[in-house]
Order: sequence, then structure tokens, then C-alpha cells
Amino acid sequence: MEEAEQLPLSPILPSDGEARRRICTAGCDRPVKVCLCDKLPHQPLSTATQIVILQHPHEQRQKLATVPVLRKCLKNCQIIIGRKLRKGSSPLLDNLYHSGADSTPLRRAVYLFPGTELMPSVDIGEWRSSSNSECIDGFVLIVFDGTWKHAKEMMYASLPFLSKFATCICFGCDYDVGGGSIYNSDLILKKEPYKGCMSTMEAVARVLRFLEPAGLEVEAKLVEVLKSMVRLQACYLKPTKPRPKLLKKGMEPED
Ligand SMILES: [Zn+2]
Repeated sequence: MEEAEQLPLSPILPSDGEARRRICTAGCDRPVKVCLCDKLPHQPLSTATQIVILQHPHEQRQKLATVPVLRKCLKNCQIIIGRKLRKGSSPLLDNLYHSGADSTPLRRAVYLFPGTELMPSVDIGEWRSSSNSECIDGFVLIVFDGTWKHAKEMMYASLPFLSKFATCICFGCDYDVGGGSIYNSDLILKKEPYKGCMSTMEAVARVLRFLEPAGLEVEAKLVEVLKSMVRLQACYLKPTKPRPKLLKKGMEPED
């Protein structure tokens, strides 16, 4: 007759691989190694702006995705997984779609995408100063989360729906397409195929600067979290080829 095996006195330690994959349950839901709990706001920030993110299905597998972190930081942030916005995607957008049929003087909703010749977009700063007053109901910001190619596909697929009620905005010419973002280079998260794309979290932070009553504060808080995330993540990424710094802090690019 076999004797029952004695239980080990010390807890079984997870193997290296398991430890690496262990997910933090204290709030951030990120791998323990890159836990962001002490960097996140104690309460998700309340914004007057409703943020709607259409996330490409492939993005859910992205290790460096910023959207899950953004969702932890913002109270009014809705994420829709898919390739296209249409009627039925979101009650909020459906409402806007139906009221968009009337000729409203100020459109509440904006979506972020660089314009093309065929489809011009408005610089966010200009748009904000031309929409003279505060928007009583708060703005609605729509963002596409994906690689450059996917974002473009998602935007065009959503256009028949979106164009009824939302204005296309962009960051104007201060957006440095070659080198990432106009923020410090330590915010650059990804290489190809993201080259030229700003992370979704940074993009949202920048737009909220213009849309929110306390915009600068909200932006600063989000950027602070994003910087912590990048710093942590950078410790566990293989070093990449250094890229030329196109913009130095506080300097404008030369023409
Ligand atoms: Zn955590």
C-alpha cells in the first residue's frame, strides 16, 4: 500500500516562465514584472469627454498596447473591438448618428485621423478655437487603435457612419511623422509597422488637452503614466537600433 506523499513544507515556487507571465491582480492587470499599480490614478479620471476607441482585433495581442492602461486611467472610456464603426456599435454613437441628421451648429464628436487631399481634416487647435464655447454635453472623441494600415482601413470602413456626425481632426503640422511623436523620444513605443504612429494613449492625452476644461492636467497625468509604462517596458525589451533623434526637447524642427 502506498503511503500518501508528504506535502512540501515550502510553497512551490513558479518556474521562471510562469513568474514572467503572472498577472498582477492588485489593479493594473498587467504582468507582475511591469506592474503599474502605483502609477495609476487612485480613481479613474472623470472627463467631460466621452472617449470611444475602436480597437482592431489584432491589437488585443499586442504586448505594448496602451489601451488597457488608458482604460484604467479614464472613467469615460469605451472600447469596441472590431474593424468598423456602424449603427449598433455603440448606443452613444447611434444617438449622435440620429441627431446628426439635423443641422446642428456644433458637432460634438470628433475622430482623430490625419487628413488627405480628398478628405481634409482640421487641426485640433483650430477646430477648438472655432467652436467658440464649451460643449454642454461634453465632446465625444473617437480614436482608431491599430497599426497605421489597420487604422486607415478602420477609418475608411467607418466613414459612411461617422461622417454623418463627426468631424475629422488631426494634430496639424507639429506632428513629426518621421520620428514618432512630438513628445520626448522616450515615449516611442513601437517600431514598424507603427512607425509614424503615436501610441493611442498619447494621442488621446493630446486631444484631451484641447477638449477638457482641465485639459493640461488630464494630459499631464496620462503622459506621466505612459512614461512610467514605457520606462518599465523598456527594461524588458531587446535593445533596438538607436534611431536618429529628429526633435530635441523644446526645439522646433528646422525647415
Ligand atoms: Zn499591478
